[in-house]
Amino acid sequence: MTVKRLLLLGPPGAGKGTQAARLEKSLHVPQVSTGDMLRAAVDAETEVGKLASSYMERGELVPDSVVIRVAGERLKQDDAKRGFILDGFPRTAPQAEALDELLDAMDRPLQRCLSLAVDENVIVKRLMRRAEIEGRADDNEETIRNRMRVYREQTAPLVDYYEKRNLLVEVDGDGSIEEVAERLEAAVAA
Ligand code: AMP
Repeated sequence: MTVKRLLLLGPPGAGKGTQAARLEKSLHVPQVSTGDMLRAAVDAETEVGKLASSYMERGELVPDSVVIRVAGERLKQDDAKRGFILDGFPRTAPQAEALDELLDAMDRPLQRCLSLAVDENVIVKRLMRRAEIEGRADDNEETIRNRMRVYREQTAPLVDYYEKRNLLVEVDGDGSIEEVAERLEAAVAA
């Protein structure tokens, strides 16, 4: 069985965005990245963007109520009916619970949570490199460290949350983009 409603979980810099974009092509379902949507909202200076920007600059999480609304609206769009690859959402227990409720109400529950495990030193190196290449405002060393702490405290507990629901598959995120992509494809097809 190939699953079509899935979630990529992992620390910042684990490669979620890169891998979600590849899975989008191979599975023909949209990547849903709250980080991308929030950055677009900041650039467009919308109400959501104005609310989110100070949190994002500090590497803090944007309040649950805002993110849940943004992700919920996206998941209700037509193209997400075929499936979706969630990338960077949920990041807290209340977000995970809200997601479950929303998907249950649509009768389209999550089918798998792929957890990308990567060593912290590898991540900091990757993010510093991304800072040079992409120039993202929140890719500086202080913010990176803060995002790692936020991940450990608020997002890492979701691994247990999905394990208890029998949805969790751990994937080794250390390796080339190709290597990790192959492991993910195998985890999706299993
Ligand atoms: P990302 O591109 O996923 O690393 O997200 C960049 C930033 O956007 C994060 O550091 C947060 O400030 C914010 N953000 C993205 N997704 C979420 C989420 N699910 N909950 C709260 N904040 C988020």
